[in-house]
Amino acid sequence: MIPEGVAILGATGSIGASALDVIARHPDRFEVVALAAHGNHARLLELCRRHRPRLAALYDRSHAATLARALAAEGIATRVVAGAEGLAEIATLPEARTVLAAIVGAAGLPATLAAARAGKRILLANKEALVIGGALFIEAAEAGAATLVPIDSEHNAVYQCLPAPYTRDPAAAGVRRIVLTASGGPFFQRPDTDFDRVTPDEACRHPNWAMGRKISVDSATMMNKGLEVIEAHWLFGAPADRIEVVVHPQSIVHSLVEYVDGSVLAQLGHPDMRTPIAQALAAPGRVESGVASLDLAAIGRLTFEHPDPARFPCVDLAYAALASDASAPIALNAANEVAVDAFLAGSARFSDIPRACAGVLERRHAGPVSSLDDALAADADARALCRVELGIAR
Ligand code: NDP
Repeated sequence: MIPEGVAILGATGSIGASALDVIARHPDRFEVVALAAHGNHARLLELCRRHRPRLAALYDRSHAATLARALAAEGIATRVVAGAEGLAEIATLPEARTVLAAIVGAAGLPATLAAARAGKRILLANKEALVIGGALFIEAAEAGAATLVPIDSEHNAVYQCLPAPYTRDPAAAGVRRIVLTASGGPFFQRPDTDFDRVTPDEACRHPNWAMGRKISVDSATMMNKGLEVIEAHWLFGAPADRIEVVVHPQSIVHSLVEYVDGSVLAQLGHPDMRTPIAQALAAPGRVESGVASLDLAAIGRLTFEHPDPARFPCVDLAYAALASDASAPIALNAANEVAVDAFLAGSARFSDIPRACAGVLERRHAGPVSSLDDALAADADARALCRVELGIAR
């Protein structure tokens, strides 16, 4: 069997590492043909040494030049490309049937859209691309005959619990509702937490998952779950009133699908991203992921509770954005990215994140979103507004 070519956007990140771990276990099935990141040339050099891709891209041009010199000095034949065009070249490389989209944030949208137009099998971790791309993204995937396989653990769980093929029509499939589980993050079980004083390291110390810093903060504010509600809406064609969120602190049940006959199907597993990545890579088959068996008796109790909108308003902000016009989720996502960056950089408080997002949703300039340019303009407008909200506008 000829191994399937895989390109990884966001190769130097947490999802990139999990994906490369799974792929390296199956050299007969998968071959890394292209790797891309933002600027981490040292890590990308290591990955090129190990995986020998045909193509590597860094968004940052000067770091791309550094990488190209280092590869040439070591006699490694990987070709280096740079900038937005470089990322698009990786996303559309003919040798890659599968593109794993794991860039963090809105920055991942253009390359992931290019992969959709090129008809790739897209393993989607970059939820922000779908949150802001919305209908544009789904239309591009349909027009390009691309396949979207979610690897966000909740959406991958839903994907596994839905019938195959599934046509983005819950009613036709007899689906009553989709239930997304949330760990609640590091502060849900600590009612005495003072959100004005939370530090970046405390917010990033997730009880169950090891992830990049942006999604760790999103998990702590529960904006991550809000973005996932919007992501589920687009992936599964489900209206907001068929998507529910339940807090499940153990992160063992990754999500559930309830059918009209009362059957509820769930997918369970350790909180380790190698499981959804392996499932998506091999679907409809299965491959080893390196994840241990689940010992339910050792875990003992699985608990579920309602979210707390007073302490964690971000989930409701996402439902409100979804109920509004197409530019609202873009504004919410952009405001959140700016506020999280500011929090991680020490120029905003944790409590400023939901406040700034709510402010931007109220004050943004609503407009139609019928092209990538419209989406990027709405994104830029919301980023500027958010900087004003946070008092960090230059
Ligand atoms: P990390 O912060 O660990 O990694 C981010 C990756 O994106 C890095 O490779 C980084 O490159 C790259 N990147 C950032 N900006 C750009 C850019 N402008 N152009 C090209 N590459 C860029 O993030 P995670 O791996 O944690 O998350 C990635 C995505 O997956 C996010 O959308 C997240 O929400 C989603 N996700 C993550 C999960 C997890 O367990 N980590 C679970 C479910 C979803 P560089 O290193 O050079 O900066």
